[in-house]
Amino acid sequence: MKKHNFSAGPCILPQEVLQKASEAILNFNNDDLSLIEISHRSKSFVMVMEKARSLALELLGLENKGYKAIFLQGGASLEFLMVAYNLLNKKAAYLNTGTWADKAIIEAKAFGEVLEVGSSKDKGYNYIPKGYTIPEDVDYFHCTSNNTVAGTQMKEFPETNVPLICDMSSDIFSRQLDFEKFDLIYAGAQKNMGPAGATLVIIKEEILGKVERHIPSMLNYQIHIDKDSMFNTPAVFPVYVSMLTLQWLKDLGGIKFIEEVNNKKAALLYAEIDRNPLFKGIVAKEDRSTMNATFTLTDASLTETFDKMWTAAGINGLDGHRSVGGYRASMYNALPLYSVQTLVDVMQELERKN
Ligand SMILES: *Cc1c(COP(=O)(O)O)cnc(C)c1O
Repeated sequence: MKKHNFSAGPCILPQEVLQKASEAILNFNNDDLSLIEISHRSKSFVMVMEKARSLALELLGLENKGYKAIFLQGGASLEFLMVAYNLLNKKAAYLNTGTWADKAIIEAKAFGEVLEVGSSKDKGYNYIPKGYTIPEDVDYFHCTSNNTVAGTQMKEFPETNVPLICDMSSDIFSRQLDFEKFDLIYAGAQKNMGPAGATLVIIKEEILGKVERHIPSMLNYQIHIDKDSMFNTPAVFPVYVSMLTLQWLKDLGGIKFIEEVNNKKAALLYAEIDRNPLFKGIVAKEDRSTMNATFTLTDASLTETFDKMWTAAGINGLDGHRSVGGYRASMYNALPLYSVQTLVDVMQELERKN
């Protein structure tokens, strides 16, 4: 039986998606060829790419609103660089909510002045900074919707006239937001969409073309848009699996449906963390992530016992990030509610025995 996979990333994908993907590896579209040995310019693959791009916009409600969706390579980490390369003229504002935001800031500093308008670094990123102001004269504002490492999530996004850029790697397609507020959204595939190797970037096209510098072709958003995400050979397999996952989500009822499931999973686990005297949450309650729940044991001497128990229950990937410690339960879209129930059962059994 498949394990209960709480891995933070790469992470769980829907079983039916994995089934279809494995079939396509052997025989794609009944063409008697593998998906990964046909030309990316073939009609069969061009249809996959077009479907993946249109599903992404459709699920976010961004069709016919001036947005383009492209699939790039290099992970979300390359977007830290590309965002600044393509959009930073003089000055940009960044919200530092954790490891990933910090890395984005480092890359941007090579292109201009970076204003850190808020940071929770002082407390190990265990909350989301609030009450910060974004100056009117910056080229854009960059934030990270969900801190995968510490387990915090932005519940609100600022009202601003400058372009709003967001790294949504670990919570895209997990909850309803007013996506039209954003001018550029990016997400590595491996948290909620597909295998590592593809990055989805959604861009409101009108924000491009405003920097003077020469942008190398592979790093130039406009070139990838103009070439329909086929400037060079795309990551065919990650794009295909992402397309299957997006179709799976659409068939389920889209983001509205999955958000309800995600809220139930998170409520179940956080209720147990708060109720059970053996456990303690790590981050500020109002900023808790529905995707990554972080917690510790109140009595460290129970570590070995608890670790043995959840492993025996078929749970995988519960260890906290090396920089935080403790535990991290990642509850991405494809994780079923009964996996969370299994974890809660183990937590209650630990309490009964101690
Ligand atoms: C995982 C993650 C990244 C890094 O993604 P890569 O694809 O490994 O470059 C960036 N931002 C967030 C929020 C993440 O969760």
